[in-house]
This record gives sequence, C-alpha cells and structure tokens, in this order.
Amino acid sequence: MSSNLSNRRWVLADYPKGMPNESHFCLQENVEVPAIKDGEILVHARYLSVDPYMRGRIAPGPNYAAGVVPGGLMQGGGVGEVIESRSPAYKEGDIIETRDFGWQEYAVLGPKSNITKVDPALAPIQSSLGYLGMPGLTAYFGLFKVINAQPGDTILVSAASGAVGQVVGQLGAAHGCRMVAVASSAEKLAWCNQIGYDAGVNYRSTSDLSGALRAACPDGVNGFFDNTAGPIHDAVMENLAPRARIAICGTVSLADRLGSPDVGPRYHRQILVSRARVQGFLVFDFVDDYPEARAHIAKLVQLGDFQFKEDVSEGIGNMAAAFLKLLHSENFGKQLIKV
Ligand code: NAP
Repeated sequence: MSSNLSNRRWVLADYPKGMPNESHFCLQENVEVPAIKDGEILVHARYLSVDPYMRGRIAPGPNYAAGVVPGGLMQGGGVGEVIESRSPAYKEGDIIETRDFGWQEYAVLGPKSNITKVDPALAPIQSSLGYLGMPGLTAYFGLFKVINAQPGDTILVSAASGAVGQVVGQLGAAHGCRMVAVASSAEKLAWCNQIGYDAGVNYRSTSDLSGALRAACPDGVNGFFDNTAGPIHDAVMENLAPRARIAICGTVSLADRLGSPDVGPRYHRQILVSRARVQGFLVFDFVDDYPEARAHIAKLVQLGDFQFKEDVSEGIGNMAAAFLKLLHSENFGKQLIKV
C-alpha cells in the first residue's frame, strides 16, 4: 500500500575513497511513500540537518554507529510536521525532531525512532537541529563534562564559527573563560569576536600556526575543544598549559583520508610534561543529561545576548552540495536545508 505521495531522497552511490564529491550521492525522484502502519507516523520535512559526522557514516570502516551501504538512504536528522499519525503519542500538525529522518522529504517513523516533540512557540523549529539540538548539546557536554571548564581557563576551539563552535564560545564566555577561536577566514573570526570569543587565529593565513597560538594563548591552553584533528590539533598540542584537558569532538579535517592511518607528529612528551588528559566523547554518552544541557542553553538564550548563525540552503536537491560545503570550510554557521 502507498500513501499516494512521492518522495525525493538521496542514496549513497558509492563509498568515497578520498574526499567525497557529488558523484558519490544519487538523488532519487518519485519514490513511493509507503502507507503507515499502527504505531507509525508520516512526517514532512521542514529542515534537514547537514553534519560532518555523515563523512564517517559513508566510510566502510568501523565507526561508533552503523553506516550507510551503497544504495542505502543517506542518514541524517531533520525537523518536520506530522501529516498522518497512527500513534497515540502524535497528532497531525505536531512538529517533531529526529536524528532518524534521512536525506528525504517524507519519513515514516515508528516506535523505535528517536523522536523529540518540538514546541514552535519556544524557538524557531530549526533550533532543534542547532543550539537546542545535537550541536548545542555537544558544545555543552564537551565544555563542561569533558574539559570541565573553570572560570579563568583559556579554552581554545577549532571550527569555532561552526554549529558546535559558536555555542562553545558563548557558553565559555558566559562562564568566565578566556575563549580563543580558530577558523579559516577573517570574516569567520570577526563573527567569533562578536559573539564573545576574546581572541582568534586564522589557521590558513599563518605560516607558523603553533607560534600564532602561543601569541594568542601566552599562558598555554587549559582546555582544547578539538573539532577538526589534523594540523590544528598538532599546533595546539605544542601549547598546552599544565593539566590541560583535551576534548576530541570531531575529525572533520580527516575527511579526505578516512580509513587511512592518521600520520602526524606524536605528542607523548607534551602530554606527559603537562599531565594533560585527552578524551574523546560523543554527545550520546550524556543522554541522561540532555534536559540539564537544554535548560542551561535556554537560560543563556533568555539573557538576550545569545546569537546563532545558520547557513540555510533551499531545496532537498542541494543536500549533497551542502554536505560537501562543510568538508571544504564553505559553510558559515549551522548548515541546514530548508525543504
Ligand atoms: P561546522 O563547524 O558547522 O562545519 C564544519 C567546519 O569544519 C567547517 O566550517 C570548517 O570550519 C571546518 N573544517 C572543514 N574542513 C577543515 C579542515 N580541513 N581543517 C580544519 N577545519 C576544517 O560543523 P559542526 O556540526 O559544528 O561540527 C564540528 C565538529 O564537531 C565536526 O568534526 C563534527 O563531526 C563534530 N561533532 C561531534 C559530535 C560528537 O558527538 N562528538 C557531535 C556533533 C559534531 P573553518 O572554516 O574554520 O575551517
């Protein structure tokens, strides 16, 4: 049985060997939307989230979550309107957010889907994919649970103007930390400065990144919110303060060599000498604390100074291009698709 609706959806054409490009994705048109069964809902996308973690999901190697196989629907989050419901928990017109939406216009979601109801009166609905959603929660947990940021700490953040980075900057500034941004352009650093970062380093325009970081962090880095890995990570490791805490949040700079060994300098002496702690984390590790994080961010928003830049592309046909923007530093703010 079908719903008489037709879907547009992106599938993985093939695993990328190096940097992904448009040929690795395929937009399917006129795909039948199945009729929903008991317990299920049919949701029409309003905004789809575009996130760097998708790079790991389209690599065949081991990851923390099962990936997409060639021919499979691209995974991703979205926020949309319930247009049909056979679940007592949802009614037509409800707005919901789910990380299980997929790169498609219509999603059939069941009892096992990860669904959160969104109150459109509280904030623009796409905030559930931004500062009130996964990026905002990631910023909170990385900063407060992993780095354990303390007032007076110097906290360095890579990809600082991005979805996660701009929330980290504002949370840290409000907490009394000295926030230092690393980003790829003067324009992005100007935005970081506007939202509360105290200093900034353009990693592309300096030939001595380690020296530039030393100048920006003369007493060393107490907390490092690492969104990128790669050469920025290496330069920060040369500038650690005693007992530095390093949160490994993402590895977006490795997008062109996922699956190959990440060869670079080793920093065992720096870790030993500074007695640093390096910890990877996933936002899902803190699922029990989501309400605490949302309340903290909502409070900051209510104070009135909070800002959040979105980079919105129109139309599901631009989904693959929007994803590639992230991997080439071409997004400015949280990347979304308005469907
Ligand atoms: P984002 O920062 O909005 O967009 C990605 C940014 O990465 C780009 O704008 C670019 O910023 C930077 N970038 C891309 N290629 C780079 C390269 N070769 N070298 C250095 N920087 C590069 O994305 P986001 O959603 O906020 O995610 C940020 C990081 O957090 C990602 O690594 C993501 O995977 C990670 N993350 C982790 C979790 C978790 O649970 N651990 C959850 C959410 C996100 P510049 O213009 O500054 O280069």
